[in-house]
Amino acid sequence: MSNQSDQPRRPSPEEKRRREEAEKAAEDLCGSKPWEILEWGARRFGSSMTLACSFGYEDVALIHMLQQVAPDLDIFYLDTDLLFEETYRTRDRLAEKYDIDFKRVRPAYTLEKQAQLWGDELWKRDPDACCFLRKVEPLSRFLKHYDAWCTGIRREQSPTREHTKVVEWDTQFQMVKLNPLACWKEDQVWEYIRKNRIPYNPMHDHRYPSIGCIPCTRQVQPGEDPRAGRWSGTGKTECGLHPAKDKKGIGNF
Ligand code: SF4
Repeated sequence: MSNQSDQPRRPSPEEKRRREEAEKAAEDLCGSKPWEILEWGARRFGSSMTLACSFGYEDVALIHMLQQVAPDLDIFYLDTDLLFEETYRTRDRLAEKYDIDFKRVRPAYTLEKQAQLWGDELWKRDPDACCFLRKVEPLSRFLKHYDAWCTGIRREQSPTREHTKVVEWDTQFQMVKLNPLACWKEDQVWEYIRKNRIPYNPMHDHRYPSIGCIPCTRQVQPGEDPRAGRWSGTGKTECGLHPAKDKKGIGNF
C-alpha cells in the first residue's frame, strides 16, 4: 500500500503562478548584466527582497551593485558563531564604506547548547545536521519575512551549480531566488571588485577561494577545485542553502 506522505507535494495555484513568473523572468533576463537583474528584482519585489551575504568575493560585488540600484534593501548574513575574524572585519569595512546595517541571523542554539544536546564538534560527526541547525533553520526562519532573495552563486563554482538560472523558483524556501552572477566568471567578478575598489576578505589572497565556518574551511592547493576547501574529506559539497539541481533544473529536495 502506498504511503501518501511519499507522494510528491502538488504545488498550489499561487506557487505555480509564481514559479511561472520566475521562469519567464529567467528567459527575459538571460544575458542581462547582474545589476540589471538586481534592478528588476528591486522593482518587482521592493522591500520584500533581501540579499544574502557571506562576505565572500561574489557577495561583496553584489553589495556594491545593490548600493547603485536599491540601497535600502535588507542585506543579511548567517552568523554561525564559527566565522573567521577576517570575515567579521570585512563586514565592518563594508558597513562603514556603504553605511549598511547588516542583519545578523543567528541559530536558535548557542554552540554550548548545541554541544549539550548533540555533543561536541557536531560538524565533525554530522556536518549536515550542524549546517541544518546553524544555517538552514535560521535562514528558513528569516526568509519567511520576504518574497525573494538574492545570492552570489555562479554556475562555474561547482557541478552542483552548473544549471543555476539568473532567476528561479526556490522550492525549498517557496520563494523567488535571484542569482545575478550565475553566468559570470571568476575573473569578471574580481575585475568588478578591483575597478570599484570594493573591500573584500583578505583570505581570498591566501588560497581561500571559498570561505565559510572555521572548522569546515581550509586552504586549497594549486590546481584544486575552488570549493575543495569546504568540508574537505567529508563528501559534503553544499550546506543545504542551495540544494543541487538535476538536469532539468528542478530542485532536488
Ligand atoms: S559549515 Fe561546518 S561548522 Fe558551519 S554550520 Fe556547517 S557543518 Fe557547522
